[in-house]
Amino acid sequence: MQGQLGLEGIPGKLVRVTPAKLANWDSCPRKFRMTYLDRPTPSRSGARANATLGAVVHNALKAFFELPTAQRTPEKAVLLVRQCWKSDGFADFEQADEYRGRAQRWVAEYVERLGPGADPVAVERWVSAPVGTIIAEGRVDRIDRRDGALVVVDYKTGRRAATDEDARDSRALALYAVATRKTLRGETGRVELHHLPSGRVGAWDHDQASLDEHVRAAERSAAELQAASDTFEEGDGGRAAFPPKPGAQCAWCEFRAHCPEGQQAAPPAAPWAGLAG
Ligand code: SF4
Repeated sequence: MQGQLGLEGIPGKLVRVTPAKLANWDSCPRKFRMTYLDRPTPSRSGARANATLGAVVHNALKAFFELPTAQRTPEKAVLLVRQCWKSDGFADFEQADEYRGRAQRWVAEYVERLGPGADPVAVERWVSAPVGTIIAEGRVDRIDRRDGALVVVDYKTGRRAATDEDARDSRALALYAVATRKTLRGETGRVELHHLPSGRVGAWDHDQASLDEHVRAAERSAAELQAASDTFEEGDGGRAAFPPKPGAQCAWCEFRAHCPEGQQAAPPAAPWAGLAG
């Protein structure tokens, strides 16, 4: 296994990271500590409707692509959204019902656009690969094969339509492409964000240089979070290594009840505030 060489020339320990873990660290070290290190884990605020909606759409599409090809129809997609539906975090029954209808429409239109020929190589696939000083891993929403190459696809259901720049700048997609290449042994480079509410696809064709750039940024964050985590595990509490990063994101933070700085930074967002309009 490839690794970082220590002073004695002995390979150092690779840091195992998911894109979610790296993003959590970059957004706020204190939140990272509460999410991954504090035990027992501090209590979290309740469910958010946008997260519930995203999970429903992901689960419905996973179930859809597990069906035999002949059964993959828009009508079946509508049924699957209904079967996967949850109302956690919505304001009331009316709002949940409205969004269930929207989700059914989004997914039906999406699979209609894909057409009957869409046959992914993998759905909700865990990929993992050592690269540089890290082991990059995570669950990819979908992996397609097009013109002989593997394409990493990520579903989005948030308020903002995905752009090509979003796909280019997504460290998660780049790390998935790197890990997919090694896990499934195929060429990768193209990454896509599929925004179901708008039907917009943000896409980027990475070359080796742009993938390397994302990996280097991931290595930097991974080294920081590992150094901080080591102080925590050494038993001094490591509080100074996990400073709060107050900002607009505190409105949404599930640990804000435990964070005076975050409470000062932004008022709490309603559980349904992140829903696509
Ligand atoms: S409320 Fe803000 S500063 Fe506090 S842990 Fe959450 S994100 Fe960090």
